Amino acid sequence: MADPTIKQPENTSGKWYVDQTCVPCHLCMDEAPNLLKYADGETHTFFARQPENDEEENQAREAMEACPTEAIGNDG
Ligand code: SF4
Repeated sequence: MADPTIKQPENTSGKWYVDQTCVPCHLCMDEAPNLLKYADGETHTFFARQPENDEEENQAREAMEACPTEAIGNDG
């Protein structure tokens, strides 16, 4: 389960976030390429945008389910 106390600082404000257990492995960006981006140096990913409709909400959820380290979470 993702930990909201160790969110990556680059996450845009909103309920979805990547925490500091991101490896990174890129799997989440296959699921939600319009929401997630690599940080500088590709050391981890973060939410560059929050979902704005049901389709993007589903993509964020699929990215969360794909993450092997459970680094993706939401406050909702
Ligand atoms: S799937 Fe998880 S570990 Fe892999 S890049 Fe995305 S957030 Fe990081």
